[in-house]
Amino acid sequence: MVDVARPLAVAATHVTKRFGQGDAAVTALDDISVECERGSFTAIMGPSGSGKSTLMHLLSGLDTADSGEITIGETRLSGLSDRGLTELRRKHVGFIFQAYNLVPTLTAEQNIALPSLLAGQAIDSAAIRSLAATLGLEGRLRHLPAQLSGGQQQRVAIARALFSQPDVIFADEPTGNLDLQRGLEVLSILQRGARELGQTIIMVTHDAHAASYADRVIVLADGKIRDTMAGGDALSIAQTLARIAA
Ligand code: ADP
Ligand code: MG
Repeated sequence: MVDVARPLAVAATHVTKRFGQGDAAVTALDDISVECERGSFTAIMGPSGSGKSTLMHLLSGLDTADSGEITIGETRLSGLSDRGLTELRRKHVGFIFQAYNLVPTLTAEQNIALPSLLAGQAIDSAAIRSLAATLGLEGRLRHLPAQLSGGQQQRVAIARALFSQPDVIFADEPTGNLDLQRGLEVLSILQRGARELGQTIIMVTHDAHAASYADRVIVLADGKIRDTMAGGDALSIAQTLARIAA
């Protein structure tokens, strides 16, 4: 359960990440420093290849930086063993990433409950059903992932990330494959998570309307932070993006 008194902040300090060698080398992130306060909702935008997913992978400890430091709460990720990192993720972090990573042998309901089970929390089936209904998954909870459409699998993955109310949620294009209404529902849940539960939300999106649910928008370009906006409506975000791109 989220500890409302002390939800966790997430920070990157002078983080650099390169891929490949020699002529093929790419600097995906170039000396990035960013702090996401407890209970904040940050949107990360920027063109394809600008480093958004790499930043999410590093902030969440799914990949390691070449230099610089990532912290979640008081914990420096570089100081953790693999086991310590797994434990931190299990207890505090939810992921909504494009590869859904559902467990194929578990039903939708079991997949949604899994992070809570692993964190030693009691499972409230009524709460799972209610979240499933919000995401349009009613009648699908007993299905295996292979029996669900891609969109339904994505919604199961979203429910799984939201259900245990982790301190920190990383979401990479969470509404990309959802219809408008469900996408807005997911964005509202994320926004309420930050405001009411003190969850720290970090979301990659291409969509200025989705970004308008955040209270800060960071724009990446070529692995650097190009601009930071203090939220705003979709139009002002879109205008700023257009000005940057021009
Ligand atoms: P975005 O999510 O903004 O589209 P990415 O973070 O996926 O950008 O990628 C940033 C840059 O790093 C791109 O040039 C991409 O090709 C490169 N890159 C990302 N992951 C890898 C990888 N595993 N191996 C080689 N290059 C990569
Ligand atoms: Mg990406």
